[in-house]
Amino acid sequence: MVGVQKECRTCKKFFMTRSTNSARWESQCYECYSNSQKNKQMVRFQERETNIVNSLENRIVKVEDWMDNIPSIIGAEVNNTMNSIISDDLLSAIEEKNAEKVASLTSDLFTQIEQFEEKIQRQISLLNTRIVKIMKEMD
Ligand SMILES: [Zn+2]
Repeated sequence: MVGVQKECRTCKKFFMTRSTNSARWESQCYECYSNSQKNKQMVRFQERETNIVNSLENRIVKVEDWMDNIPSIIGAEVNNTMNSIISDDLLSAIEEKNAEKVASLTSDLFTQIEQFEEKIQRQISLLNTRIVKIMKEMD
């Protein structure tokens, strides 16, 4: 099959079409045609690259948002954990310990009051002895 001679719409040089049939749609010489195909491919590559970069940027933004929210996420998590740790059992254990501490402090205080009372009693009886002595001397 022999082609037809046509003028390339890009470089205006004459070229032979691949066949008489293809002459209907061939409008560029082989060189210009393959160049434009390469250009189209380049454009597609660039578009794909742009898409990849865009989706990466979107993902980075999402990760940044997520990281910004981490303190509140951790806060909520800590609250949950604390709530589950501070169970009724633990609270009653703490109350028991506190009650023990209060009881021991109270008994210390009572001991001190008793000792103070004994001391006062001793001084009162000493004072009594002295008063009796003085009274006797005065007689
Ligand atoms: Zn051409």
